[in-house]
Amino acid sequence: MIRADITSKFFGEQQVLGQVQFTIAPGETVALLGPSGIGKSTILRIMAGIDTRFEGRVTRPENMAIVFQEPNLLPWRNALDNLLIPHPTLGAVAAREALEKVGLAGRDEAFPGQLSLGQQRRLALARAFAGAPEFLVMDEPFVSLDPEMADQMLSLTETLIAEARPATLFVTHARAEADRLADRVIALSGRPATLSQKADAA
Ligand code: ADP
Ligand code: MG
Repeated sequence: MIRADITSKFFGEQQVLGQVQFTIAPGETVALLGPSGIGKSTILRIMAGIDTRFEGRVTRPENMAIVFQEPNLLPWRNALDNLLIPHPTLGAVAAREALEKVGLAGRDEAFPGQLSLGQQRRLALARAFAGAPEFLVMDEPFVSLDPEMADQMLSLTETLIAEARPATLFVTHARAEADRLADRVIALSGRPATLSQKADAA
């Protein structure tokens, strides 16, 4: 079970988060919804263990993967190497399979600059799933894609999640994305931000 028990989070004098408590069951997908600037990425960084400067406690498994807004690829490494960097023991065969699953068959040797933005995002997705994470966190992975491409990415993500069944925390400001992808939606509001009593209030 993944558990967030955050009491407060400050940036300097500014309190960004108040009490935020939630759990994610194995295999469950939870969407964290809220407007821009409310504190979604801050929670995601806390949940991922990137930000440890907060009051409270977080319980999460070791084997986790993060998909950020930007694909975060190394421009001087090809697609296959980018996928293998966090998974050095995976091997080329499994890595190629992972690329195939996201529609990048045969693009092993392409550098990020030779891939479209959509392909770069799919590579980042393949890299995240390649480690069979127990816990997957995604920070608005579909922003700034055109609607058709965002839709394709959503479908692909749905397929990968259905297959691998990680516990997933999916951060978004788009209600439609949250409803489509998540088993359960939780919503942030206020300043300092807390979880709304009813997700529908967001
Ligand atoms: P969201 O992801 O919901 O758009 P963030 O979690 O990025 O929001 O930010 C929440 C608030 O915290 C914003 O007011 C933002 O300006 C502030 N903030 C985020 N990161 C920092 C930082 N490193 N230093 C100071 N303030 C920050
Ligand atoms: Mg954010």
